[in-house]
Amino acid sequence: MSDHNSRYYRAYLECHQVSRRGLLRGLLRGAERAQVVDEKLPRQAIRPPHAAPEALFLQRCDGCGLCQQACQQCVIEVVDGRAQLNLDYGACNGCDQCLLACTTAALSKASYAADTGFRPNFARCQNELGTSCAMCAHCCPTKAVTLDDDLFPTVDDSKCIGCGVCRQTCPFNRISPEPLIASDKR
Ligand code: SF4
Ligand code: SF4
Ligand code: SF4
Repeated sequence: MSDHNSRYYRAYLECHQVSRRGLLRGLLRGAERAQVVDEKLPRQAIRPPHAAPEALFLQRCDGCGLCQQACQQCVIEVVDGRAQLNLDYGACNGCDQCLLACTTAALSKASYAADTGFRPNFARCQNELGTSCAMCAHCCPTKAVTLDDDLFPTVDDSKCIGCGVCRQTCPFNRISPEPLIASDKR
């Protein structure tokens, strides 16, 4: 091979190595950007307690149903291949059995906060009609509900863990769910 040709091939190879490195760097930067976007993914459903952030949860939960089988309150269901809470007929009592059953780290008490994403809406509180009920405030396990001077309840978002106990204990069935919130209590 002439000196001219060998210089040409060396330059050609270097160029391609640089391009491959550049391509790899580009891919990694793209993956980093995707990670940033994913971390902001809002909850798509009310999740069992101590669920990973939504994007990670969607990756890890494989819909095996082990948490559903473990939940004696029967508030976990698997919808579209992922575990979620149904707080229409029951509440989460924080027993942790779902976490112990989860084998994929989609649920982890050590890593993620208890917040399920559920929030109570008190707009239809019966006290508006003159009753003197205080059940939701009494039963909330985190003392997140307070009653004002007119006995109208409000929830402290930073204390609420979305267990649904208030909704279940309201004797007048006056608590409805707020639109899902994206928990940042991690
Ligand atoms: S903590 Fe207990 S009650 Fe709550 S969802 Fe998990 S298994 Fe069910
Ligand atoms: S207000 Fe209290 S009882 Fe109601 S969902 Fe939040 S933590 Fe549970
Ligand atoms: S339990 Fe129901 S009726 Fe009683 S204060 Fe709470 S929202 Fe109102």
